[in-house]
Amino acid sequence: MLDIQSIREDFPILSHKVYNKPLIYFDNGATTQKPRAVVEKIENGYYNVNANIHRGVHFLSQEATEAHEEARKTVQRFLNARSAQEIIFTRGTTESINLVASSFTDACMSAGDEVIVSVMEHHSNIVPWQIQAARKGICLKVIPMNERGELQIDAYRQLFSERTRLVAVAHVSNVLGTINPVKELVEIAHEQGVPVLIDGAQSVPHMKVDVQELDPEFYVFSGHKVYGPTGIGVLYGKEEWLDRLPPYQGGGEMIATVSFEKTTFNELPFKFEAGTPDYIGSTALAEALRYVDRLGMEQIAAYETELLRYATEGLRTIAGARIFGEAAQKGAVLSFLIGDIHHYDMGMLLDRLGIAVRTGHHCAQPLMQALGIEGTVRASFSFYNTKEEIDTFIAAVDRVRKMFSL
Ligand code: PMP
Repeated sequence: MLDIQSIREDFPILSHKVYNKPLIYFDNGATTQKPRAVVEKIENGYYNVNANIHRGVHFLSQEATEAHEEARKTVQRFLNARSAQEIIFTRGTTESINLVASSFTDACMSAGDEVIVSVMEHHSNIVPWQIQAARKGICLKVIPMNERGELQIDAYRQLFSERTRLVAVAHVSNVLGTINPVKELVEIAHEQGVPVLIDGAQSVPHMKVDVQELDPEFYVFSGHKVYGPTGIGVLYGKEEWLDRLPPYQGGGEMIATVSFEKTTFNELPFKFEAGTPDYIGSTALAEALRYVDRLGMEQIAAYETELLRYATEGLRTIAGARIFGEAAQKGAVLSFLIGDIHHYDMGMLLDRLGIAVRTGHHCAQPLMQALGIEGTVRASFSFYNTKEEIDTFIAAVDRVRKMFSL
């Protein structure tokens, strides 16, 4: 069992007030709050261990290099990757997907080749492929979903052709909360000899992810959604695939030798880490991963699932409530509308009551088009949220409903 009250003390921002009301932070899908240990790691990094890493012969540089490479090993263990070389530090999920989209397209695709994505993708897993489509003439195919917001596996099977080169899907939808059956999706793709990229932005913070068990070729996530700092994220890639791909950016760190006639590239993982890496961010991300690991990913998942069940039950008691995403397997994301109250009005009024939710299309406009709506109100939970906060939230939503005399 998690001791929520003592966990909350690790997150100073949670005791803040907004508009003189206790802050209720239900925007964890967008970013999570940071525990003291992570902030202190950043502070300590700049105060005591700051020097540019690699190549430096001096003490501080070696210490900073060791900390950065130790952070890589922490990520490796967290995802259960085979080797630390399979862990590339990036700026986040978006950059990781852009890296794969660019390098994979260059190495493995030509005009007419196809990438399969799903209808519930974040723009970060649509637009990078569209940019490559414009450059190289590749095409996107889209896995549809049923009315509960679950991907249709039979339709997915039908999408494969001899031109399919890659599948790129979210592990957990940031709008519907659907936990996609990634292992099955990967198995089906592998039967066709097709590699898979999984967008783990919304899964890594909430459940145990084992890349060897799920077996995708690429798995990506953002540090800031898993209680780490902004500006750092991860691309996991199977070594044989990362070896096949050309560098994404050129510059320092990623080279072996440079002359005006010919440049050779560094080995993994450095081939994909051009420029000075965020070596403070990487160590703070590792600290965040240690933090959630200490709590236990199974305990986190169980507690958040209970919060979701409780909030869903509460919301269902409100007249005119429509919930978007009712998959059998769901993460702690609750997207909804009440009658014809605009999502933006609901979000602004909840804000006045101290409750932070997200409103709008959640960077998933094609999904909004499939649902036939412009946007939703989204409450997304973390292990530091409580049932009391959900009670306050449900009462507030009902209060807003009454203001609109519904
Ligand atoms: N994919 C999903 C499913 C997301 O929820 C998000 C963040 N909302 C992203 C990608 C993009 O993450 P980032 O902005 O950290 O790169």
